[in-house]
Amino acid sequence: MIRQNVSLKEFSNYKIGGPALYFLEASSKDILVEDLKNWDKDLPAFILGNGTNILIGEKGFEGLVIHCTVPGVDKQDDKVTVGAGVLVSDLLNFCVENSLSGLEWAGGLPGSIGGAVRGNAGAFGGETKDLVLEVMSLDIKTLEEKKRNNKECEFGYRTSIFKTKAKDEIILTVKLGLKKGDKEAIKKSIREKIDYRYKKHPMDRPSLGSTFKNIPVVILTEQQKKDLMQFVKNDPFPVIPVAKLLYLCNLKGKREGDAQISEKHPNFIVNLGNAKTDDVKNLIEFAKKAVKEKFNVTLEEEIMYL
Ligand SMILES: Cc1cc2nc3c(=O)[nH]c(=O)nc-3n(C[C@H](O)[C@H](O)[C@H](O)COP(=O)(O)OP(=O)(O)OC[C@H]3O[C@@H](n4cnc5c(N)ncnc54)[C@H](O)[C@@H]3O)c2cc1C
Repeated sequence: MIRQNVSLKEFSNYKIGGPALYFLEASSKDILVEDLKNWDKDLPAFILGNGTNILIGEKGFEGLVIHCTVPGVDKQDDKVTVGAGVLVSDLLNFCVENSLSGLEWAGGLPGSIGGAVRGNAGAFGGETKDLVLEVMSLDIKTLEEKKRNNKECEFGYRTSIFKTKAKDEIILTVKLGLKKGDKEAIKKSIREKIDYRYKKHPMDRPSLGSTFKNIPVVILTEQQKKDLMQFVKNDPFPVIPVAKLLYLCNLKGKREGDAQISEKHPNFIVNLGNAKTDDVKNLIEFAKKAVKEKFNVTLEEEIMYL
């Protein structure tokens, strides 16, 4: 059922943002088809997962927000078919219970599987694309269902076809290829990733994770290589970590209202309590300008805007 004037703040990990004019909780394809068949397709629509990567505007959204909550994990030997609304943390628990290995790198990764596929989320050398066998989606305008294999998803660094060409499609289910493993080893590996995050990231404050994408070495000019290669790391291919550049620009702790470039990890902008969308945006612009001036590098946001 489509509701009206629903606050988006509670659906945002940042706890920032205004209301959606229309809001639909989508827990199945049938609900989507039923509610969207008479919907004015000219009105803008936005697909929301678990809200861990979206900066929502104070004015909210003058259109329809479709909150994907498709549930369920179905195991077929070492393959699993997962509802796009399932949280990565819940899927990891399922993997431990069923001794399935392959997703350990995602320990502590917030958000839903749908969001992870759409942005090809990655950490600790792993990427979502490495596990995806098949994705089912629904075009919210034509209501046509589509099935894509891994290659057809056109994955790249923090991107996929759902971010580039198939923007009107809501991911419904994802089939992942895992392998049988040792339960205790899987559990330990996941725990290590979570512990690392608590040690290195500002987990005590709301954030959207990394604000900017790391910079792939392949796009650097010869001069930039000379200046920046000293900082290179593999994640999962050679990149220049943005956090290092922000640190060298003395941006740690820089504050705008209640938004702050984290003291602990400068690629995170945290909400100290009552941050506004513009506070975060101003910090983003300030950081981009500082990095451009010092390193002649143009930063690109990893977070999304609504
Ligand atoms: C503390 C913290 C740590 C983080 N660490 C990492 C990290 O290590 N690596 C990393 O890659 N990211 C990281 N992130 C960012 C974020 O968690 C991931 O990008 C996550 O995959 C987003 O999932 P979500 O469900 O929250 O998506 P949302 O934030 O709700 O949406 C993100 C985008 O995906 C789209 N989307 C969501 N669901 C669907 C769907 N079913 N169909 C189609 N489109 C959809 C939305 O339209 C939006 O454009 C971190 C975030 C936080 C807060």
